[in-house]
Amino acid sequence: MLDKKYILENPEVVQKNCANRGVKADVNRYVELESQCRQIQQEIEELSRQANVVSKSIGQAKDDAERETRKEEGRTLREQKEAKQEQIDRLTAEAGAIYRSMPNLTHPDAPVGEEHHAREIRRGKTEVRKFSFPVVDHVAIAEQHDLIDFEGGARIAGNGFYFLKNEAALLELALQQYTMHFLVGEGFVPTITPDVARNEILQGVGFIPRGPETQIYSIENNDLNLVATAEITLGGLYSGEVLDREQLPLKLCGVSHCFRTEAGAAGRASRGLYRVHQFTKVEMFAFTLPDQSEEMHQHFCDLECKIFDGLGIPYRVIDTATGDLGGPAYRKFDLEAWMPGRGKNGEYGEVTSTSNCTDYQSRRLNIRYRVQGEKGTNLVHTLNGTAVAISRALIAILENYQQADGTVVVPEVLRKWIGKDRIGSSE
Ligand code: AMP
Repeated sequence: MLDKKYILENPEVVQKNCANRGVKADVNRYVELESQCRQIQQEIEELSRQANVVSKSIGQAKDDAERETRKEEGRTLREQKEAKQEQIDRLTAEAGAIYRSMPNLTHPDAPVGEEHHAREIRRGKTEVRKFSFPVVDHVAIAEQHDLIDFEGGARIAGNGFYFLKNEAALLELALQQYTMHFLVGEGFVPTITPDVARNEILQGVGFIPRGPETQIYSIENNDLNLVATAEITLGGLYSGEVLDREQLPLKLCGVSHCFRTEAGAAGRASRGLYRVHQFTKVEMFAFTLPDQSEEMHQHFCDLECKIFDGLGIPYRVIDTATGDLGGPAYRKFDLEAWMPGRGKNGEYGEVTSTSNCTDYQSRRLNIRYRVQGEKGTNLVHTLNGTAVAISRALIAILENYQQADGTVVVPEVLRKWIGKDRIGSSE
């Protein structure tokens, strides 16, 4: 959520920001509604003051007739107050809906425009391989080595669910181990988070829990939802708390399953594991002082690069365009890995995403910090980043490491957990 005072003092800046991010929010109407509410609130206070005077005067009335007149005056004032309160409730609801639709402010360097205006800012250490044989995609590789059971998944839970089998199951665990150990070495507190969260936490982090447009599976007769990312659980962990300045920056990483309805995604490239309803992810999350968040954002991006450099996967990093930032992000960097089996001749596909959400999430979640010896508290900044999203990492590994003889080389850093160098050979 944005700072209300900032919106009222800078409506043009906020309106322009909404337009750049492709969000329809009538900021002027919001300012008008807030001003009307303030005006009506003053009128309510004046009516209350008058009602108090009248109420006191009832006891001092000369006779019954005057007492009745005063009582009638009191009733009229109460009715007027109630009507004004109803009016204010209506206006507040309208203002609240506009307020909640306003996205975060945007980093001045973020490219302005729709998705395709994203700017490439970096490339990974591993070169895109030149294959001397016709490449196949991960679905064909998985079929050859019995690595993924899509039909079994569909039978159990519907399309978009799957069983990982054999080396693919081991690769999932190996990717978790590799990433978690790496992040612990970088000072993160390792966690395994709940896979469900309450409506209020989802809303605080910026997800819509229920309704036709949501990406969230909600649990019936309950205020719980399956999480779409551990950003929700890690972000919610300190909701309502005041941290000490000395605790910041605080870096956590968490393993969770992620569930997404992918409403509206029909037709988008989604063969095999690319766009599924359930996958496992190791997520990074940080709470920082306001002046630490930009540096932390670069740090998260560097860590994602190191993880994919370590895996030997070619990738590029993009600075996401304003139209693709969503609600909470002030700036977002995505890593796109080269997937040789994707499209006709291979394509880059998003594998990680890191966002600096500044104080947009912490305002709603009410996460603050205190400086010892100083009065008051301030909002922390929050950041999130994908360390590894397993299903897309599997695509990148299987497709980049495929060999002419049909085997797949296991990335060196993962071999100790798989127990072999190649999938499809007895070595
Ligand atoms: P997000 O939380 O939407 O930024 O996504 C984080 C990462 O999760 C993405 O960069 C993808 O690697 C992965 N991801 C997102 N949605 C899906 C999906 N439906 N299926 C598989 N992987 C996904």
